Amino acid sequence: MALNFEKEKLIEELKKRNPKKVLVQLAEGIKQNAPEISKWIEDLGIEVIFSGETCWGGCSVAVQEAEAFGVDLIVHFGHAEFIKMDFPVLYVEVIDELDLTPLLEKSLKDLEKYQKLGLSYSIQHRHDVENIKKFYEDNGKTVTLSKKRGTNAYEGHVTGCDYRGLREIQEEVDVFVIIGNQFHSMGAVLAVEKPVILIDVYNDDVRGMEGIRDKIVRQRAMSIEKLKEAKKVGIIVEIKPGQKFGSPKYLLEKLRGKGKIAIVITMNEVTPDKLMNFYDIDCFIELACPRIAVDDFAKYSKPILTFKEALVALGEKSWDEILQEGFV
Ligand code: SF4
Repeated sequence: MALNFEKEKLIEELKKRNPKKVLVQLAEGIKQNAPEISKWIEDLGIEVIFSGETCWGGCSVAVQEAEAFGVDLIVHFGHAEFIKMDFPVLYVEVIDELDLTPLLEKSLKDLEKYQKLGLSYSIQHRHDVENIKKFYEDNGKTVTLSKKRGTNAYEGHVTGCDYRGLREIQEEVDVFVIIGNQFHSMGAVLAVEKPVILIDVYNDDVRGMEGIRDKIVRQRAMSIEKLKEAKKVGIIVEIKPGQKFGSPKYLLEKLRGKGKIAIVITMNEVTPDKLMNFYDIDCFIELACPRIAVDDFAKYSKPILTFKEALVALGEKSWDEILQEGFV
């Protein structure tokens, strides 16, 4: 990675907004840059506090911390805007200036049998999208960017919980190329019916994602069956403004209507250790980041489902629908 924090742009924006005190949130991979960022901001006469809480996506905007510490602005590094906030937030997307040419060249072998590419990227590579398109076009491919839909901030941009923009172009393409990491490509392979090739910028690798889908689909089907059998169910909600995937009230009614005992549990962040003491609960439904249930199920001692999966278990959605739409 060769990260550019766009210091000049940040300073200019802070001078314009003129806050007295800011809360800085850094994505997980860039927390080590806190001391240098602190100096840039303090040199402007602005008081700085860093949030030490995890920050996995643009969904994790620390509004409660900001209010508790009386700051006037949140500066959120490493993600694009996810949803509109009532609180002032300055997003600094952070650019990865790594030269992708060697990886793109390597990918041509994997892409040999495909002509029409669907292209999506994680936010650090947005600045490079025209170069990437040109590279593939110069090599005889056509390139269509995934649509800007839902929580995706730009055409081609993909977040780990919204693949509608890819699904909308899947009839036009032979294969999807994801510039980013395993997280984004794994979500894609669960959401689209075309092959997915990952340009893994962080591990300097190119690989197809075939084989992963079947394994996860089998596991998710098993979790859905567990919820059908469960007597006691915990519905987990998080306080992060962007992590509200589904209505706890609706689920409570439906679960109780099926004769189950159901409770709602609130958390700052869902982790396996926090659920341990609820040992009497047979099954959890988490309405926070849907990737917790889909990607991290093996870390939990009890089955854990997304909202959509719970709807399938409750007979409110069909298995075919979720296979078509994806699990997140
Ligand atoms: S995938 Fe999860 S962590 Fe990433 S933006 Fe979506 S809700 Fe947030």
